[in-house]
Amino acid sequence: MTAIAVLGSTNMDLVAYVPKAPRLGETVTGSAFRTVPGGKGANQAVAAARSGGEVVMIGAVGADEFGVRLRSALTAAGVETAALRTVEGASGTAHITVDDEGGNSIIVIPGANGGVTGLEAGDAARIGAADLLLLQLELPMEAVLAGASAARAQGVRTVLTPAPARMLPHELLGLVDLLVPNEHEAAALTGFTDPLGAAEALLREVPEVVVTLGAAGVLYAARGQEPLTVPAPRVRAVDTTAAGDTFVGALAVALGEGRPMPQALRWASAAAALSVQRPGAQDSMPTRAETDAFAA
Ligand code: ATP
Repeated sequence: MTAIAVLGSTNMDLVAYVPKAPRLGETVTGSAFRTVPGGKGANQAVAAARSGGEVVMIGAVGADEFGVRLRSALTAAGVETAALRTVEGASGTAHITVDDEGGNSIIVIPGANGGVTGLEAGDAARIGAADLLLLQLELPMEAVLAGASAARAQGVRTVLTPAPARMLPHELLGLVDLLVPNEHEAAALTGFTDPLGAAEALLREVPEVVVTLGAAGVLYAARGQEPLTVPAPRVRAVDTTAAGDTFVGALAVALGEGRPMPQALRWASAAAALSVQRPGAQDSMPTRAETDAFAA
């Protein structure tokens, strides 16, 4: 079984459905409201666990009702949460407005995630016991750097999803083994809007890059190799929320099992294609058996 450590965020997504998003000073009546467990770290942890990984989640929730639900959503998916601390104050929240055209606007309040500024006792050992460490950018940079350093020191492969997009310190990129931006993040990091140009620029900093291209699939580039494009399975997408996190969680499991990169990319693409055909974030993520059946 692939052992995976995730050092990342947990957020409760508070989703309001409205005909049209309110302008400043305006009040509108919406049609529905949902609370959905999310956060890129937790999403990747759930995706990896459903894909058959043995997953530990490192991070923090607040001492509130959301914290209880965020933890139990992870536990229900089979993620180990002993290293997910409960801290004073509020859990992370994402306040999302979705309009009738599917357009959204989002306010993220880091809450407990913002207090994760480094590793706690036992975390370095948890990372050392894993085959791969999954990182994103919804925790403070100090924590991301500490996780990546602990992984490098112990020979653990680090996969970074550079989202939300921001400039990355060279120090961090030097500790990353595989970078998985979407095409917008790849462009923001490099200034190149074509994915191949962006991937080639990123290879100056990291040995391997996968640029995700939505319905167009993924582009893989590694130093000294011909780039490879893997098309996405053609499916009818109803909700692409957390497609990228599903892809990364599944890819990590496949790589940890020693599958060659092209095969791992195809399997992760199958998992992501299944997730976009169902509504929701963590709820939409397929099990290993579902992905195996779809990829066959
Ligand atoms: P999100 O922010 O919604 O999690 P993202 O922007 O990080 O997604 P995308 O590049 O949009 O990432 O999607 C990630 C992967 O999910 C794609 O590379 C592809 O494998 C799969 N995917 C996304 N949209 C579709 C689609 N319409 N059909 C099939 N597969 C899709």
